[in-house]
Amino acid sequence: MNDAEISAAATLEPVADVAHRAGIPAEALIPYGHHMAKVDTASLAGPGQNGRVVLVTGTNPTPAGEGKSTVTVGLTDGLNLLARADDAPDAWAGKTAMAALREPSLGPVFGMKGGATGGGYAQVVPMENINLHFTGDFHAITSAHNLLCALVDNHLHRGNELRIDPRTIALKRALDTNDRSLRQTIIGLGGRTESVPRESGFEITVATETMAVFCLATGLEDLKERLSRIIIGRTYDRQPVTVGDLGLHGAQGAMAVLLKDALKPNLVQTLGGSAAFVHGGPFANIAHGANSITATNTARRLADVVVTEAGFGADLGGQKFMDITAVAGGFPPAATVIVATVRALKLNGGMSPEDLDTGAEHGDQPSLEALEAGVANLARHLENMAAYGVPVVVAVNRFPQDTEAELDWLTGWCARRGVPAAVADVWARGGEGALKVARRLVEVLPAEEEESGWHSLWTDDMTVAERIETVVTQIYGGAGVEYTPAARYQLDQLVAEGWDHLPVCMAKTQYSFTDDPAVLGAPEGFIVTVRDLALRPGAGFVVALTGSVMTMPGLPRTPAADSMDVDSSGHVTGLF
Ligand code: ADP
Repeated sequence: MNDAEISAAATLEPVADVAHRAGIPAEALIPYGHHMAKVDTASLAGPGQNGRVVLVTGTNPTPAGEGKSTVTVGLTDGLNLLARADDAPDAWAGKTAMAALREPSLGPVFGMKGGATGGGYAQVVPMENINLHFTGDFHAITSAHNLLCALVDNHLHRGNELRIDPRTIALKRALDTNDRSLRQTIIGLGGRTESVPRESGFEITVATETMAVFCLATGLEDLKERLSRIIIGRTYDRQPVTVGDLGLHGAQGAMAVLLKDALKPNLVQTLGGSAAFVHGGPFANIAHGANSITATNTARRLADVVVTEAGFGADLGGQKFMDITAVAGGFPPAATVIVATVRALKLNGGMSPEDLDTGAEHGDQPSLEALEAGVANLARHLENMAAYGVPVVVAVNRFPQDTEAELDWLTGWCARRGVPAAVADVWARGGEGALKVARRLVEVLPAEEEESGWHSLWTDDMTVAERIETVVTQIYGGAGVEYTPAARYQLDQLVAEGWDHLPVCMAKTQYSFTDDPAVLGAPEGFIVTVRDLALRPGAGFVVALTGSVMTMPGLPRTPAADSMDVDSSGHVTGLF
């Protein structure tokens, strides 16, 4: 059965029952159909618990993804099974875990095959709804963002009182579809009565600063405050013009009107019956790549442990979670789970991508060689995550083509290094397949009353350049940073305008520790080139672009859309 068939065959509990078991009172539940609901956090009673946050991250992946979402879901189910098991560890007996995940974007759903709701028997459900329009959050974010764009162009049309130089407007309209033909556009054509013609374009909704702001906001007031800080463009004297400068009181109020319901986190269930929040979904390159802070913080009020995931590998999503998301959300992570796969490590060890799926047929020996060479990639991610002061566990996500010899070798390698590790067989077996990893995790998890040893690698007094240098040398393992002349100019400008204290959001290829996707393994001595520094005051960071980053993806030659259909009874096929 494929993911959609597994999801469709499952017997789902009414969302009211899921909510009841999670401790969410009926008055806080806003159902969207039978199996999805928004939760009005204002109606939750008291402060509740103070759940510990477990981050699921990964090694540098193969293009297919290594199963971070899948393991996040399976591990949550595994933790809940373990809590009710006869031989549950004392510290975990009777406890609860919830998952917090990002919402899927329609771009990848219809573009490249692969959903964002987990896979196999470790999924959040109903996967069809979650992968499509869900509760409409992305439509709301798209609308709020495009409203802002319309207000800006109306301002230009009505006389441009703020003296915005149209050539400096970086804001682009948004669409949650992969559509390369909209990357560069000319808008405002048609003469005097239309608008002011200018060059513009579209970006995918998940790449907008509005999405990043939505996910980092701690509540409605913070949302408005952050939106008001978004820079629209610059005046003819190069002074920044913000959302807060528009109209009588800024455009943040109108944008928040469109976002107020979307900001409430979405409750669904996993195939194993655990409660899960699926909410927000910023890009993991030009943004921080984690679900909304409102979802994680709401889950913390309801469960003992919140298992959450950050996009891309530990060098990107993991680093940003530790240095940006955890700080903005006010939750010190309690432990990290690194998802490793035999496939990705063999790729990092030099095996060609075509051979990855035929490991067992090629016999153990050649595969072990590549695995032994590629494990250096995992070793560096382990050291990096340990540097944040929280315990690390390795979950070896088992794929059908993995051999026992490979899995044994990898868990043995972890054991020799003293790293807690176990095979996660969640794709095939759901929560049952995560019990071993759940045990390893519970063993290292600090007690509730114990303070997490987490600390950011940055200190408050660090400059933007020092923060970039820290990430490149301490996380990527590089020798240093170079700036293109354009980026050097932008760095000087950040200093001159007083933005030099902001955190940095690194935009880099997910495939390599370097800025070159072809350099795999654990390279050393390389230089990372920063090409652009983009100020995002709403999100509260400066984006440092290394290499080229696409903010409006295109469709592949054979998009997933080609295989999709719906029959007369409304039954969808081809979703994965
Ligand atoms: P990530 O979150 O790391 O991008 P996902 O969890 O979304 O990865 O998984 C990517 C794809 O791989 C999904 O289609 C999922 O069904 C599939 N997948 C994940 N784990 C396994 C596994 N152990 N065996 C087979 N397929 C898997």
